[in-house]
Amino acid sequence: MFICKKVKDLQQHLSQNKHDTIGFVPTMGALHQGHLSLIQASKEKSKITVCSIFVNPIQFNKKEDLDNYPRNVDADVLKLESVNCDVLFLPSVEEMYPNKIYKTYKFGSLAEVMEGEHRPGHFNGVANVIERFFDIIHPDYAFFGEKDFQQLAIVKALTKQLALKTEIVGCKILRENSGLAMSSRNERLSTTQKKDAAIIFEALTFIQKNHPKHSIAEHKSYFAKIISANKMELEYIEFADGISLQPIQNFNETNYCVVFIAVHLGKVRLIDNVTIYSNQKSNYFN
Ligand code: AMP
Repeated sequence: MFICKKVKDLQQHLSQNKHDTIGFVPTMGALHQGHLSLIQASKEKSKITVCSIFVNPIQFNKKEDLDNYPRNVDADVLKLESVNCDVLFLPSVEEMYPNKIYKTYKFGSLAEVMEGEHRPGHFNGVANVIERFFDIIHPDYAFFGEKDFQQLAIVKALTKQLALKTEIVGCKILRENSGLAMSSRNERLSTTQKKDAAIIFEALTFIQKNHPKHSIAEHKSYFAKIISANKMELEYIEFADGISLQPIQNFNETNYCVVFIAVHLGKVRLIDNVTIYSNQKSNYFN
């Protein structure tokens, strides 16, 4: 695996094989199987797979969250080598934002709900880093997990707005055997907390299976009760249209419904989503 920290070294390396298709997997490191599944998806579609590890400071709306974000580059290198990733790009903040100039994007209502509402400025930070990466790498494909469903929709909107040639590929959520969605933040959970957190997916799956029997309001209050009974704190639960991501109050408002949640377990913030039902012929993102 070719490892570099400088834009010019990366570009020089990629220019040696100009005609190869490039697949790009942006990450913030502390890699797990979910990340590696994106690398594998990229390897299936592209000749060269580039992974980046960059903890993007401007997408964190809380300094404490940025400071506590898990970092373990040595272990990440071994994991990437185990799946034959071709290139690892490890830029510094200065390399990514040499002029400290940040753009302001307009994503409208897509960025005003859920993560956008609860983490002000988050998606603007994501859009800045993705535009910068795409400008450096010019990938043919870029791979994003449905774990961050709203981020995937924002990146799709970004590439459309900028008329970029990069195809955005959405990838399924990888979960622990317990059902807990894999996340770098899980590293900060104790073994007991990890067991407790399994109730999140259990409850979401229960809602999915039983959704026609109850109203959205009833499902929300059921979920809130489960979360507080298990010593977690609910930040939000929303049922939304899977394309516009606008919250709905009744199931008859959409034929593609996804439930989104954010909960706090100790100092760790967890997000997850489950498709309640979908009349879409294919996955929206692919
Ligand atoms: P992160 O390092 O958290 O910024 O994530 C990098 C990429 O990996 C994003 O596109 C995430 O959506 C994706 N990702 C994170 N967790 C998972 C998971 N459990 N399954 C699939 N993809 C994931």
